[in-house]
Amino acid sequence: MAIPKQASWMVRKILNMRKTVFILWLALLSSLRTQDLLIKWGIDVNGTCVLCKNGLETQEHLLFHCCFSKKVWQEMLSWLGWSRNVGNWEQEYTWVQQTAKGRRPQHVLLEACFATTVYGIWIDVTPGYIRIEAQPVIS
Ligand SMILES: [Zn+2]
Repeated sequence: MAIPKQASWMVRKILNMRKTVFILWLALLSSLRTQDLLIKWGIDVNGTCVLCKNGLETQEHLLFHCCFSKKVWQEMLSWLGWSRNVGNWEQEYTWVQQTAKGRRPQHVLLEACFATTVYGIWIDVTPGYIRIEAQPVIS
């Protein structure tokens, strides 16, 4: 879809959220390549959450059991004017889905911020996978 030239900066940003939406879609399918999956596939990774260094990095942990990601989403909700305790991934996704049913600007903004938060958390942990240390070759 072509973005009109007269669209505001914010509208352009929201319309350019393809990567963000893709990561949210993967999360909805429980298909984020978290370290627990990499371990199951035989890839030698540490497994510990790179954000809090406390617990196995699973999708459930990242979204939003992890104290770091929970705080990020809590702050985002607060910035949007919502005051509520952050639950787990299923609870948060369901809440956003039910709350943002309308097409009013605050609904669109809530959905965009949720997707952006998930994407931002995912981007923050992704470099952890690059830290796979080379193993010495046994001769
Ligand atoms: Zn964590």
